[in-house]
Amino acid sequence: MSECLFCRIGKGEIPAKIVHQDDRTVAFEDINPQAPTHTLLITRKHIPTLSDATEEDRDLLGHLMLVAAGLAKQKGIDSSGYRVVANCREGAGQSVFHVHLHLLGGRVFRWPPG
Ligand code: 5GP
Ligand code: ZN
Repeated sequence: MSECLFCRIGKGEIPAKIVHQDDRTVAFEDINPQAPTHTLLITRKHIPTLSDATEEDRDLLGHLMLVAAGLAKQKGIDSSGYRVVANCREGAGQSVFHVHLHLLGGRVFRWPPG
């Protein structure tokens, strides 16, 4: 059994509010939302950090981005604006070491981020 939290959510071993799934990706609501919309998008493939991605993951990660854009449309946040974030390693705040995107929307975001 995989020890990785997001691998386990992807396999349905740990419950989550899933909003999208396909053969390569899963999207579910963040357990501790930082905005009215806060959805996490993961690859089914276990990749610990963005820095561990390789050339063979190019299409997979492109697909993940397009799923994020599609969900933003579906959730009605695409015209007001939204943010897609990938925290890479501890210094950037990554706490779950399985590649994921945060899709955040429904409020105004400041720049630069904290
Ligand atoms: P990171 O800090 O690695 O960029 O993001 C990890 C995210 O996963 C955090 O926003 C955190 O709230 C979320 N998270 C952690 N554990 C769980 C969980 O068990 N279920 C869900 N749905 N989200 C989780
Ligand atoms: Zn994993």
